Amino acid sequence: MKYCIILRDNDESKKIEDLLLSKIKIEYDDKNPDYVIAVGGDGTIIKAGHKYPNAVIFGIHTGHLGHYANYSVEDIDILIDNINNNTFNIQNLDVLSAEFVTESGNIVNDFAINEVTIVSPLRTLILDVNIDDDFFERYRGTGLCISTPSGSTAYNKSLHGSVIDYRLKAMQLTEIAGINSTAYKTLGSPVVLSYDRRIKLELARGYEVPKDVFITVDHISYSIKDLKCLYIFYDNKKMKMAYNKPEEFINRISRSFLISKK
Ligand code: NAD
Repeated sequence: MKYCIILRDNDESKKIEDLLLSKIKIEYDDKNPDYVIAVGGDGTIIKAGHKYPNAVIFGIHTGHLGHYANYSVEDIDILIDNINNNTFNIQNLDVLSAEFVTESGNIVNDFAINEVTIVSPLRTLILDVNIDDDFFERYRGTGLCISTPSGSTAYNKSLHGSVIDYRLKAMQLTEIAGINSTAYKTLGSPVVLSYDRRIKLELARGYEVPKDVFITVDHISYSIKDLKCLYIFYDNKKMKMAYNKPEEFINRISRSFLISKK
C-alpha cells in the first residue's frame, strides 16, 4: 500500500505533514497512491477526491470544523495507527456524473462530489429541463444546481435547497435565481429526485445563446461556447472516505450548522 499527502497551504498543515511523514511506515507515492491524507478544509478534501478518484481519502480538518473530514488534529495519532495497521473503516459517498456535449460533437465527462452547476452570470439562461425522457420545464434564470446528498449542505443549502440524509440515494435540482412572472414560469422549489433518474439540460432552441455559459463540478469550471446539452446522473464511482469511529449524519449537521448544543 502507498500513500501521499495533500495540504492546504499554511504553516499548521505543513507541521502536520512533517509529523505524518516521520510516522507513517508505508511507502510514499504521489503518482498512484492507495491512500491520500488531505490536511485542510473541505476544499482540500474535494480536490484530493478529484485528483485521486480511486484512492481512500483521510481528511484531517485544520481551522474551523470541516464537513467532510473524519479526523481532527487531535486524532492524528489515531489516523497514523489506522494507516500503519490497516484498521480503518470506509464511508462511500455518492457522486454525480456530468457529461456535456457541444454543437461540434465534443463530449466532456467529469464528476462532482458536491454539485454540478450550469450558470450564465450576465445573460439569462434559457434551458429545457428533461428528466429521463420527459420534458419537465423551460427554465429561465441565472442557472441550476444539481447536488449530491453530501453536497446538499454546500452551495445547494445557500440556494435554500433541502439538506439530504447521506443514506438516501438521491440528487437535488435547485434553481439559481429562477425568473418567475406572468410571462415566465418555473417550478420554483427544489426537486429531490431518485438516484436512477437522468437529468438532461438543453439550451432552448430559437433564443440567443449566452456566450458566457459555465458548467462547474465542485471547484472546477468549464467555459463552454457551443454547449448543446448537459446530462447529469449517478456515477458508479464513490468517494471513499476513511474513518475511525462513525459519525452520524445528524451529528455532522448539528456540529456544522447549529452552534448551540444542550
Ligand atoms: P471551499 O472548499 O472553500 O468551500 C466553501 C465553503 O463551503 C467552506 O466553508 C467549506 O467548508 C464549505 N463546504 C464545502 N463543501 C461542503 C459541504 N458538502 N457541506 C458543508 N459545507 C461545505 O470552496 P471552493 O474551493 O471554492 O469549492 C467550491 C465549493 O464552494 C463548491 O463545491 C460549492 O459547494 C461551494 N460554493 C458555494 C456557494 C454558495 O454557497 N453561495 C457558491 C459557489 C460555490
